[in-house]
Amino acid sequence: MRTSDLAPGCSPCDQQATSPRPPREEVLATNHWRVAHAFNSALPGWLILLPTRHIAYFAELTAAEAQELGGVIRRLSAALEVVTGCVKTYLMQFSEAEGFGHLHLHLVPRSPTEPREAMGPAVFTYLTSEQAQWILAEELAEIANSIRAAIP
Ligand SMILES: [Zn+2]
Repeated sequence: MRTSDLAPGCSPCDQQATSPRPPREEVLATNHWRVAHAFNSALPGWLILLPTRHIAYFAELTAAEAQELGGVIRRLSAALEVVTGCVKTYLMQFSEAEGFGHLHLHLVPRSPTEPREAMGPAVFTYLTSEQAQWILAEELAEIANSIRAAIP
């Protein structure tokens, strides 16, 4: 990783430059992708897939980065099924929030008992700025470790 590929002050880039990273920041690390558990989620298993260099949109991905992504999604989805008992995973990408322009994909487990009002795009109700609803740091570390251990 060349530091020139990172954007100083960008949170995912700053984490990429950090070593060692906390468990929730490194559920999976491949050649081109790093996977973190969302820090601001009320839902266990809410994963964020991040390119290891600063990219703002899909068209900037190299062929190698794009090719690796499919396998990462498949492997993480299998791990989420084992750890959370989800029936499917949702995959979303916007990268529109202020300060979060670094391309990132949300990979989210959908529970068999998901309430109708939290299905589809409404699943974003689980991402919240209300810290009282966030999963506690120790629990996040345990969830991240469980998912990592279940990745095929
Ligand atoms: Zn960045």
